[in-house]
Amino acid sequence: MVINCQLEGVKVYLPCKDHPSDEPNEGADLIITVPKGLTVAGPGLLQSVKTKKKKQTFHWKTNYTISNYCILFNIGKYDIVKRTYQTIDSNNVPMAFYVLEEDKAIAEKMLDMRERDTHILDKYIGEYPWATEKIGLAQVPNPGMEYQTMITYGDKSGKFIFSKVGSEDYLANLFHEFAHEWFANKVTNKYWAYRWIQEGITTYSEALFCREAAGESGYDSMMVKIKNGIKNAKPLVQGDEVNSSDSYTGDIYTKGAFFMHTLRYILGDTVFFKTLRELATDPQFTYSNFVTTDDVEQLFSKQSTLNLKPLFDFYLRTTDKLEIKIRQTAFQKYTMSVPNLPMNLPIDILTDTGMQHILLKEKDYVINSQTMPVIDAKGFYLKTVTTD
Ligand SMILES: [Zn+2]
Repeated sequence: MVINCQLEGVKVYLPCKDHPSDEPNEGADLIITVPKGLTVAGPGLLQSVKTKKKKQTFHWKTNYTISNYCILFNIGKYDIVKRTYQTIDSNNVPMAFYVLEEDKAIAEKMLDMRERDTHILDKYIGEYPWATEKIGLAQVPNPGMEYQTMITYGDKSGKFIFSKVGSEDYLANLFHEFAHEWFANKVTNKYWAYRWIQEGITTYSEALFCREAAGESGYDSMMVKIKNGIKNAKPLVQGDEVNSSDSYTGDIYTKGAFFMHTLRYILGDTVFFKTLRELATDPQFTYSNFVTTDDVEQLFSKQSTLNLKPLFDFYLRTTDKLEIKIRQTAFQKYTMSVPNLPMNLPIDILTDTGMQHILLKEKDYVINSQTMPVIDAKGFYLKTVTTD
């Protein structure tokens, strides 16, 4: 028996105020009785299992703040495969995979992958957030979801078919749901309108996995894939009052992730990665505190000493793209115009003499080149380029 409530909301099975900011910050208890022989997988730590005739009662308890949609359980004929994970801060965390009996052979490999993925996420966005409870995984007959300390995962085929990133076996959906332990469960957006923060940064973390497994070219390939998924039909951030279904678009994943890619380019790796980690570890943005788009903007602005508000507004609150126009003005001479430049932006220009890296401050910029210049060749910006 599984529960999944994405979009319908947790109100379908639990009386609650169905809003992302409504998290019980002292945790939750779940007391579930099932026929003997079945196992209940839940959040936090298992307190007790009491047997009464042909029934068993499982008591699960989490002491952490928890999104209301993570207060749920799954029931199955599970085997439980365990080991211990040591975090980046040297805490030992129990790992448990609730695997269906018939798939037990895959369990150790899944835990190997989970350890590897936790190391990567620890490195980029801080220690596993629920270190005093567990790293849990429950097998379910749907693609899975980010349920706090008991991520669910399943695949349609009923088999575990891995893809390859570099030489690493990979399950994209599993990694995605697991990365939500940081962005979604630990760093939670205050309103539906800011959902891009949890979905976009989590999708971006998939590119960081590719960077670890296959280097910068692996990261770049992933960013192209993400970019090709952007529809750009409406802005990502439409105002605080927008409801769950209106805020939910594919772009909160793709365009949200691509925006982080753009930020990385503008800020450079040192500032960008340090600030990303700060967003996921500073108490003012985590656990029982919530974040808004302005919080993210102000943090990145502060750490970069740039005013990034115009850029955040441009890419998150409109569907605009940089409009880049190239016009040949003389022999081997071109003018690049960007009439809607939101702020001073670094940009790569490829000419016959190689790649130039400039800071574009004016709407017009003169380029000398024997060949037609290529602007932003590696694709750090959402843009349209027209040439006369
Ligand atoms: Zn997600």
